[in-house]
Amino acid sequence: MFWWHEEVGQGVRVAFTHRGAGNLALHTGDDPAAVRARRAALEQAMGVPGGSLLFLDQVHGTDVVDADDPVRPATPRADAAVSVTGAPLAVMVADCVPVVLVGEGPVGPVTGVAHAGRRGLLDGVLERAVERLRHRGAQDVTAWIGPSICGACYEVPETMREESARRIPAVAATTSWGTPALDLRAGARERLGSLGVALADPDGSPGPACTHENERLSSHRRDPGSGRIVGLVWRAGGTEGDA
Ligand SMILES: [Zn+2]
Repeated sequence: MFWWHEEVGQGVRVAFTHRGAGNLALHTGDDPAAVRARRAALEQAMGVPGGSLLFLDQVHGTDVVDADDPVRPATPRADAAVSVTGAPLAVMVADCVPVVLVGEGPVGPVTGVAHAGRRGLLDGVLERAVERLRHRGAQDVTAWIGPSICGACYEVPETMREESARRIPAVAATTSWGTPALDLRAGARERLGSLGVALADPDGSPGPACTHENERLSSHRRDPGSGRIVGLVWRAGGTEGDA
């Protein structure tokens, strides 16, 4: 079920699923009952209460939702979320970059997820997410960058590469067959680094995996029917405290 799974300190767990967990998105035309059953199985594997895992209505924007807000929608329209209670958070991807953020807050960990596709990355979703974590008191923020399409696979028109690199030079790349491409992961690393966020040890993180090249991962480009894998962060013991 998990491509990578680790306790990263303060009782916080970070994980990324592979296709063994199945498609976890409700918006890709899959049978909703089957998706809900997979989400329930995932929650069980995480050891969190059924229905507690927050999924977002991701729109390639930069809005960040406060997962602890008691009056938020069940599925908020946002591309990032933060929590100071260790609430289970999910971010869905299939080539876009899933980013998990963890910082040390005044009364415990501050956690977050962000969906960084081309549009969101260029428009500042990572800046907005990190800003919100810090607003909630997070210090010493660390990021885990999950599996995404790599710069050698993500072919785009030359004009798109130029426009994108004008905002974040690090995204300019070339495919393995010599055509214009984008390296979203490099862009995410550059943005997070410039924000003073530590990047988790590449040996211990799942970063280098390319969704397009690895059939255990979902890639919209390789197979639009492969659904979505997810990045996850939660605190063991869940949202109800340590009881
Ligand atoms: Zn690749």
